[in-house]
Amino acid sequence: MKLDATDLRYVTSDEFRVLTAVEMGSKNHEVVPLSLIVQISGLRNGGINKLVGSLAKRNLVSRVQNAKYDGYRLTYGGYDFLAMRALSKRDSMHSVGNQIGVGKESDIYIVADAEGNEMVLKLHRQVHIFFAESKFSICFFSLGRVSFRAIKEKRDYLGKRKSASWLYLSRLAAQKEWEFMKILHQHDFPVPRPIDQARHTILMEFIDAYPLRQVSEVENPGKLYSQLMDVIVRFAQAGLIHGDYNEFNILIKRDTGEPIVIDFPQMVSTSHENAEWHACTSIEIKSVEESGKGNFKLDVMVEASGFGRKEMKILAEYMEAVRQEEGDHESSGFDEEELDEEDGSESADEETEDAINLDEKRQNLDNGRPISNEAVEASS
Ligand code: ADP
Ligand code: MG
Repeated sequence: MKLDATDLRYVTSDEFRVLTAVEMGSKNHEVVPLSLIVQISGLRNGGINKLVGSLAKRNLVSRVQNAKYDGYRLTYGGYDFLAMRALSKRDSMHSVGNQIGVGKESDIYIVADAEGNEMVLKLHRQVHIFFAESKFSICFFSLGRVSFRAIKEKRDYLGKRKSASWLYLSRLAAQKEWEFMKILHQHDFPVPRPIDQARHTILMEFIDAYPLRQVSEVENPGKLYSQLMDVIVRFAQAGLIHGDYNEFNILIKRDTGEPIVIDFPQMVSTSHENAEWHACTSIEIKSVEESGKGNFKLDVMVEASGFGRKEMKILAEYMEAVRQEEGDHESSGFDEEELDEEDGSESADEETEDAINLDEKRQNLDNGRPISNEAVEASS
């Protein structure tokens, strides 16, 4: 998906109100009816069609027609826009440059602040674990379905819901990565410096580096090997397992050759029920912990940060559900529609809430007659 930086400038304040209304309406509607958009945005009915039409033209929302009513969904483009607007409103970021990475789980862009300093913006996409077999011999680690079966047994994520919305899940993934990056950086782990976070995005330091995957020769392999092992051991001493420690997620700095570790949405605590499996098999987690060095617990600190056990569980179990789904259907992906169910527990970013006086609108929502998801499903 291409980000259009010019859109950031050319969305009018009324269009922004409408876009925000679609986002808010998405919390309890799979397809947000036009009448609800009118109600939340507080704009006159007559003008809305044009505004929402111009947003749809730029793929910030998409029109959905079904038997009962016509409505709109927020797209990833729209969600990207809202996140970038939040970041630029608080002066964290000023302009968008080239896309440098397309993962299964994210899009990565070079962006800059007002002084032109380069940063990296990671936009989380639908939560989705990459099943690459690692060829990198240090790692001894490859993701597979087998070990996640154990987690699946206890699946109670999302309660009655079949799945949660991509809005919520991509935001959870970003929040989790943000909390880990902050704490790891504070404790001098070789990770990018975290700068800001909004919705499903993270802004971080740009590392001038090559992914280890692209590096065919290193000056001192022995040194790199021990640096990388040292990082794994330090993770374990701090109560953490990266969960995806491989040549795609290790960057080798161009100037110094130092490794920088990225990409933490699957990070787990060593107290996790499947910890031994998530770790590299050559490392005895318990013995590292018991060696007396593991005296500070970053996993506990992250939990205290607001991204708690519950969120961690929702995300982990969701990731597992995706895997299971893939196994069942033998497909390599799934589309937004599958995920795009009700959710709703999260509130919009502060900037948005300011812009639209959330409390007042919530009241309107409560007093109004939001159409239930069941109704949406039944009609589609
Ligand atoms: P994904 O979850 O999609 O795998 P990653 O966080 O691993 O996303 O990033 C994907 C790619 O983007 C990396 O392999 C790397 O090339 C690039 N990248 C990510 N973060 C940075 C960064 N802070 N500095 C430089 N390049 C980065
Ligand atoms: Mg990665």
